[in-house]
Amino acid sequence: MDAGLPIRAFFTTREGGVSAPPYDSLNLAVHVGDEPHAVATNRARVADAAGAPVTFLAAAHGIAVARVGAPGQSPPTADALVTSVAGVAVAAIAADCVPVLVHDDATGAVAAVHAGREGLFAGVIDAALAEMLDLRRAGAAHGRMRASIGPAICGLCYEVPADMRARVAGRHPAAFATTREGTAALDLPRAIEARLSELGVGEIVRVQECTAESPRLFSHRRDGVTGRFAGVAVCE
Ligand SMILES: [Zn+2]
Repeated sequence: MDAGLPIRAFFTTREGGVSAPPYDSLNLAVHVGDEPHAVATNRARVADAAGAPVTFLAAAHGIAVARVGAPGQSPPTADALVTSVAGVAVAAIAADCVPVLVHDDATGAVAAVHAGREGLFAGVIDAALAEMLDLRRAGAAHGRMRASIGPAICGLCYEVPADMRARVAGRHPAAFATTREGTAALDLPRAIEARLSELGVGEIVRVQECTAESPRLFSHRRDGVTGRFAGVAVCE
């Protein structure tokens, strides 16, 4: 599905790959127990769709940001990939955690961020935007930063212990949520939208589809052992 940014940027679904259940079919993660050949084929299909070699992020659930300097470069373990090199595609994989894509008009730079509960809490959104601002350097035209928040588990589905909700909402009030049953929950996409807005991102697109509710998306919370989809952005 299109990410709604003025560049080539999209989110994949479960459809269009070769992996067998429970990874059916477009699993893009190598760490979840799927057949490596199948993942390689799936990743090649995503690169075809991107029109460029894709560097897939290997998340550490922290705030590490890595710059990708050449097409197809394999990344160090990081939670956000940033590039301003034309022809480089970066991807964040997720299945309930939030993939976020960012584009900066001023430099053409793009970022792919994996923002889960712990990463958001520790400041991964802030770290990724700081890296993009670094790329502007002195004298760069004041451009517009745009972001797209991909499919993720929603605030009605993401049940957590009450003390965990209190801790995260203490830093990100927009994360405070309640499930359909009335128990404590977190709304990570809403919290990320609020944070991006606080940091001055002018235009924010949100894919409203919930991973735990949509059968065409992978959900770790719903299925346990399963695949991962990706948010992909191409630097032009
Ligand atoms: Zn939901």
